[in-house]
Amino acid sequence: MPAYYSVKKIYGTDTVYPTDIGCYTLGLLPPISMADFGICMGSSVSSSCGFAQATDQKVVSFIGDSTFFHSGITGLINAVHNNHAFTLVILDNGTTAMTGHQPHPGVDAKPLGVERTRVSIEDVVRGCGVKDVHVVEPFKIKKTIEAVRASSEYDGLSVIISREYCPLYAKAIGERKKTRPFAINANKCKNHKVCINELACTAMFLDGDAVRIDRNLCTGCSVCAQICPENAILPVKD
Ligand code: SF4
Ligand code: SF4
Repeated sequence: MPAYYSVKKIYGTDTVYPTDIGCYTLGLLPPISMADFGICMGSSVSSSCGFAQATDQKVVSFIGDSTFFHSGITGLINAVHNNHAFTLVILDNGTTAMTGHQPHPGVDAKPLGVERTRVSIEDVVRGCGVKDVHVVEPFKIKKTIEAVRASSEYDGLSVIISREYCPLYAKAIGERKKTRPFAINANKCKNHKVCINELACTAMFLDGDAVRIDRNLCTGCSVCAQICPENAILPVKD
């Protein structure tokens, strides 16, 4: 969800947002609401080519890493060839998360105990002819927003690769960073609900009218703390 947050900060709601098939399709739900349509695997890229031609609105499409390898590349080559101008966000969580963490060509297979050649997404994107390519770590909100802004100012086809492990997969392969959960300091919180309304983290919930964090669901990513204007969200002390 932090990638959606950063894209919306620059592109707002008056943008065409094609999406694709994966866990990120849930971005269609409020308060994110950044999936105008999803048709079939790979269609976010190919339909963006059409929308970039047919409308004056900005077009930002989303696709996951495994779907990109499955059928996103063909649309991207078409976009390069026809000089279509839109932004493609590739959400690279290091696995095929939705269907059970199966590997795909971009996966680092070493933690799985097998020898495979990893195919770099950015090399594929550049190899297709895309000139404007950004690789971001979505938990670093400020830098991610800067990259989205740079992409939005580029006159042509731009690709943002948002790279962060699926937390469940990271845990399964022993790559989960040790972090502390976060909590809201009630003395500092102004209860304007920016965090829960704009980020939509599943660890956040309303207790009556107050925002709370379920420490059992919090992965300690710190994104909510970065966006809270009151600095009211802090890591829990042991
Ligand atoms: S953004 Fe910060 S101040 Fe506002 S409701 Fe959330 S925790 Fe409270
Ligand atoms: S630190 Fe916890 S509550 Fe805050 S955004 Fe990350 S997972 Fe959600």
